[in-house]
Amino acid sequence: MKPLTEPEIRAAFVNCSKGEAKRLHVPRDLSEQPWDDLDFLGWRDPQAPDRSYLVAELDGRAVALALRSSSAAAWQARLSMCSMCLTTHSGGVSLMVAAKTGKAGQQGNTVGAYMCSDLACPLYVRGKKDAGIGARLHETLTLEEKIQRTVANLAAFIAKVTA
Ligand SMILES: [Zn+2]
Repeated sequence: MKPLTEPEIRAAFVNCSKGEAKRLHVPRDLSEQPWDDLDFLGWRDPQAPDRSYLVAELDGRAVALALRSSSAAAWQARLSMCSMCLTTHSGGVSLMVAAKTGKAGQQGNTVGAYMCSDLACPLYVRGKKDAGIGARLHETLTLEEKIQRTVANLAAFIAKVTA
């Protein structure tokens, strides 16, 4: 994806207030992110471990989501799979919950998805980050097909949040 600046990212949030979007944590090292290998950029708030964020480019427009993650429970110690990139980690997947946009979100409606806890799906898909032995199912898909699938899964999640 094309590199984004901090103001572009802050302006892209769709499911939190403008005030929150102004204050929330955005990585300082944006110019050092591996943008060429990213379909979306995800990050966690170092000050608030249950808060994560992601920004993607959909149809040429940046869309960012504020997410809450549940801390890993004992039952999650077994292998769990990210529903975006289909990487299996032991303990490396979290339930990410996004408030819906608009009135539905104000009424407390949320959408959840299991995702890589570090939100580095694009790097796992490309084999740039290792999730451990047995982390990837053997698949006959090409890299391009796996990337397209991850992007489609993310787009479907964002569509549910903004529906
Ligand atoms: Zn993932």
